[in-house]
Amino acid sequence: MQLKRTLIIYAAAVVLAACEAPREVAEVEVIPYPQSVVAGRGTVKLPSSLTFSADMPQAELNDLLAYLPDYALPMKPDGKDAFVQIIEVGENLLDSASAEGYKLSVDKQGVRIQAATAAGAFYGLQTLAQLARGKDELPVLTVEDAPRFPYRGLHLDVSRHFFDKEHVKKQIDLIATYKMNRLHWHLTDGGGWRLEIPGYPELTQVAAWRKPANYLEWRKDGRFYPQDTEGVYGGYYTADDVREVVEYARLRHVTVIPEIEMPGHSSEVLAVYPQLSCTGKPYTSGEVCIGNEDTFTFFEDVLDEVMRLFPSHYIHIGGDEASRRHWKACPKCQRRMREEGLKDESQLQSYMIARIERYLNGKGRDIIGWDEILEGGLAPNATVMSWRSTEAGIRAASMRHDAIMTPEDYFYLDRYQDDPETQPLAFGSTIPLAAVYSYDLPDTLSPAVEKHIIGVQGNTWAEYIPTPEHAEYMIYPRAMAIAEVGWTQPAHKDAENFRHRVNREVRHIEGMGYHPFPLSVQVLHAQEVDYNNRCIRLSLTSERYPIDIRYTTDGTEPTAVSALYEGEFVVKDSLLLAARLFDGDKPLGKTLHLRTDYHKAIGKTITYAKRGGYYTAKASYMAGGDAGLVDGKRGGKSYADGYWQGFCPNDLDATIDLGEVTDIHRVVACFMQVKSPNVFLPAQVDVYVSVDGKNFTLLGSDTCPEEEAAKEVAYVDLGWTGAPVPARFVRFHAKQRMKQFLFTDEIVVQ
Ligand SMILES: [Zn+2]
Repeated sequence: MQLKRTLIIYAAAVVLAACEAPREVAEVEVIPYPQSVVAGRGTVKLPSSLTFSADMPQAELNDLLAYLPDYALPMKPDGKDAFVQIIEVGENLLDSASAEGYKLSVDKQGVRIQAATAAGAFYGLQTLAQLARGKDELPVLTVEDAPRFPYRGLHLDVSRHFFDKEHVKKQIDLIATYKMNRLHWHLTDGGGWRLEIPGYPELTQVAAWRKPANYLEWRKDGRFYPQDTEGVYGGYYTADDVREVVEYARLRHVTVIPEIEMPGHSSEVLAVYPQLSCTGKPYTSGEVCIGNEDTFTFFEDVLDEVMRLFPSHYIHIGGDEASRRHWKACPKCQRRMREEGLKDESQLQSYMIARIERYLNGKGRDIIGWDEILEGGLAPNATVMSWRSTEAGIRAASMRHDAIMTPEDYFYLDRYQDDPETQPLAFGSTIPLAAVYSYDLPDTLSPAVEKHIIGVQGNTWAEYIPTPEHAEYMIYPRAMAIAEVGWTQPAHKDAENFRHRVNREVRHIEGMGYHPFPLSVQVLHAQEVDYNNRCIRLSLTSERYPIDIRYTTDGTEPTAVSALYEGEFVVKDSLLLAARLFDGDKPLGKTLHLRTDYHKAIGKTITYAKRGGYYTAKASYMAGGDAGLVDGKRGGKSYADGYWQGFCPNDLDATIDLGEVTDIHRVVACFMQVKSPNVFLPAQVDVYVSVDGKNFTLLGSDTCPEEEAAKEVAYVDLGWTGAPVPARFVRFHAKQRMKQFLFTDEIVVQ
């Protein structure tokens, strides 16, 4: 609804400018959604053979002609009476300050694309191709469009698993159609060095190959680079490969930003040049020695070649997750700190980053680094890529440094995208499509800070991504959501409308030979707690569209003739829901079994024991703080969704005051296990009650079943159920099994 309202306002605003007053608002099937779409009257037939003319500088026209064979809509150049007219006006016709904007008009004469730059014209063509897809006519309309952010990126890790240049080009081709304009190429890391460097043959002869192929197995085996080449897995890009990829990207208005990791994530360098390590030995550290001048010679030589191959203004120098351990014990690093007056090892890292920055600045380039580069003092001209949080990027922007938002809880494409029990092994939490789409900046930012936030990016870390097909599965459709976050103004975003468009788009790219996640076949749910009316509003949805959701509330399995979900449930006491998707008669996915209780502890006071409090270092793990376990809100499948409260290394030991003595018969909490990021079920749960808050009686203990504890992913209810007992205070104690993370979403008291 939001979208329609916005468009009506837009429509009203352009009445004066249009020859013919717009009579309706169009919803177009375009990703990312344009800023303004105004419908005219009727439709225009698409000619069977499409012609175009282009009024633009010759060099840009040549680029367009070189790209056209891969353009989705076949077009031939024709000077006279061309159906599609591309006009580069050389100045921005839109209110937006962006040079990437365009105006696309469809009327009886054909299609006219006006843009300030070749990039704008390219984006107009992408919108045209999506509008024309599968149709023999176009609606009469006017689209005015420009991006929200200048930087809209996709990151590819080709170190942990190697993907060849054809795979990289294939992704560039697709993201460009979503108007993304940066490919961040993570070329070096502990998993393998992927770029040929003159004078350093060992990097690609040795440190680009390994046995076995799977990164996780190789890591378990100790991460050694074999000297023999029999049966090895890996690869690297030659200088010619890079030139080919960079040119392919340029024709699609995508800048390729290379990343050379330092000073951490460099164990592959140290495997072949152990003299650059603090210990002088291979396989002892992932960090280079900053006290050693040879380290700088090495990286400067590498960066010289990088600058020869990549025209990108930005060079990414990593800077993340460096351990300080070896620097503390290294005489050379300690001497460097004394000589340079550096207080601690964070400043030693900053010394290196600043020195590399000076080197690159001297050659006309600027650096991007991960947000750890904020820690020991930020290099003067650095752009910060904020991965641990949105806040770090805002901090950088407040210091007048540019920042790119890649927060791991939204834009990390190595995370699960659906119920982990249904998915191939992935890293950590679950970030479904809707969560990616929901990303926005806080609306409290001042314009001075906001202007330094230059864009967003999805990151495809490849530890858990062994094949190119699997990479596509993890990237799409979530990259479509990131494209829309980066391009479309928040007022024009519409999650429901996006759901419809993305269904069409996923089917389309499957037809093009991509391997996207085909969208979840699980029923998704959301709850809203209404404390005033003492009820929970429960609504259901799905990533699939169109689709039926059928349900029961009597404990039976839903079938093709069960009730059809048409609107939210209002739960005043308890609802035992079973819901499943149906495509006609055909059931899809798993049945959602969801118990919703407006229970006795909702809104009551909870206090935590001294060694039983929740983890506070990450906001999403606090589930809203003290009220998080008694707010009626149940979590989804991800511990990072803001509903699950985390405990590490503490137990969960909390006491709820129900305010008065009342009979209770059930005290239960659900716990989650996802082993890869160290989230474990508890060993045991003890439930105590008291009427006076002093003398507590143990009602019962529940231990975690062995078969659940053995699973990679599990969700288990633990607690006590029995004959009613009077209680005012309920103490719930969940004991750690692994002293890692424990997560629960609600303590249900009935
Ligand atoms: Zn050292």
